Amino acid sequence: MSTSPQHALRVLFVTSECTPFAMTGGLGDVSGALPVALREQGLDVRVVLPLYRSVDRGQLEELPGTLLVPTWDGAASARVWRGWLRAGTPVYFIDYPGYFDRPLIYGPNGGAYGDNLVRFAFLSRAAVELTRFLRWTPAVMHANDWQTALVPVYLDAFERAWPLSACASVLTIHNIGFQGVFPVEDIVFTGLTNGSSRGIEHWGSLNLLKAGIERATAVTTVSPSYAREIQTPQFGSGLQEDLRARASDLTGILNGIDTVVWDPRSDPHLPAHFDERSFEAKRECKAALQREAGLSERDDVPLLGVITRLTHQKGMDVLARALPRLFELDLQMVLLGAGDPEIEQSFLEAARRWPDRIRAWVGGYDNGLSHRIEAASDFLLMPSRYEPCGLNQMYSLRYGTLPIARATGGLDDTIEQYDERTGAGTGFKFHDLTPTTLFDVAGWAVSTWYDRPQHIRQMRARGMMKDFSWSAAAKTYEQLYVAASRRHRAPHAVDAVRALP
Ligand code: ADP
Repeated sequence: MSTSPQHALRVLFVTSECTPFAMTGGLGDVSGALPVALREQGLDVRVVLPLYRSVDRGQLEELPGTLLVPTWDGAASARVWRGWLRAGTPVYFIDYPGYFDRPLIYGPNGGAYGDNLVRFAFLSRAAVELTRFLRWTPAVMHANDWQTALVPVYLDAFERAWPLSACASVLTIHNIGFQGVFPVEDIVFTGLTNGSSRGIEHWGSLNLLKAGIERATAVTTVSPSYAREIQTPQFGSGLQEDLRARASDLTGILNGIDTVVWDPRSDPHLPAHFDERSFEAKRECKAALQREAGLSERDDVPLLGVITRLTHQKGMDVLARALPRLFELDLQMVLLGAGDPEIEQSFLEAARRWPDRIRAWVGGYDNGLSHRIEAASDFLLMPSRYEPCGLNQMYSLRYGTLPIARATGGLDDTIEQYDERTGAGTGFKFHDLTPTTLFDVAGWAVSTWYDRPQHIRQMRARGMMKDFSWSAAAKTYEQLYVAASRRHRAPHAVDAVRALP
């Protein structure tokens, strides 16, 4: 394992999910990748995660000593284990079986355990205490989503003494829809009091994300457009005013993608490999998928792919309603997704009604198939209502597959609109989300495919050359950490000067 550079910027990254140890969604991907990219850039980044039951202890080492965590009913004793991500990135696991030795991370059937406030307040407090346990003081603690949004609050409320008084905090919002809202009387479980709980109340409830937004040194979200959108009533989920109040400290930084796992030159899930100079093998991928899907093996018809959770957020209800008109166009569609039972049903029915036009793999999760669809499709449909960052459009661009997407959040930031006069752009974007607008934009893409194939080729090559790697994102995070640390320390420096005789 590599050792930590002596004078490197120290960051403690606190999260409730981290791939490959424990994950349910995008937060887990970011937590498994961003700290590694930062470490590769020379920062001393370490990760904190609960020791969930699903984590394989065989890969970990138990550290000597006890981590004492102040809780609402006295000090609790936790154990600490250590594992590793790539690039010698340490991951510290908080071992407290009463809260974390459970079958699931958040609760059964996508729901929540009744004591999630206590569990994640504990994680946040334990992360702060861990810095003392390790005798390692970070310059920045980086919290993620509501589960660890109390980290900035605890730092601000309880750590007024050096050295942690000099530690800045960053809070990243991965999805503003999840805020950690609890009954106001549960404040007791956070260990905060009237004097220390500034910002936690929202419309008569506790709101952990709101408290974090108010008290973190800096707030980030996962794309520049989403950073602007969440300051409006349409996208802010009730926190738009609180975000506007922090507008000058709010930044959008695009997530990266894993460019090793998602590489059309070497992807082991594909029957053939290609790059931006030779798309020939992309045709082979298309033919193979058409066979796998039971669709006719035609190179002269555009293939539209969909890989997503089948939910309202992803606009899948609108896509389902647009299908009858879409199939007036000469196109084929392959869809892989699971989610809302009603939406699942509508795609299954569509597949029965138009068996030669659409194949729907519904209800399961299939990673290999998602790679094959990315490689085989000519277009990928992403009509999301909102999309904080989105990954699929970046995978698509890398695989020479042109996104047809709603101009929102990270989709708007990563896709350049096609210009039919010049052939510029990397995809097809639209604004209003209705079956008609979806049909119109798909029609525009499909007619371009038939009538201006040279533009399609140029757009593919352009998309494939874009840099969506984590190292690009990590550079921006590093700048943000440095700025947050300086800004946080500035008032203390002023105090110190004032204290001089
Ligand atoms: P979100 O995190 O909101 O679901 P993202 O686009 O950020 O959306 O990430 C979703 C990821 O999950 C993408 O990589 C997508 O390809 C993948 N995915 C979604 N549904 C499935 C499925 N049924 N099978 C395989 N991969 C899927």
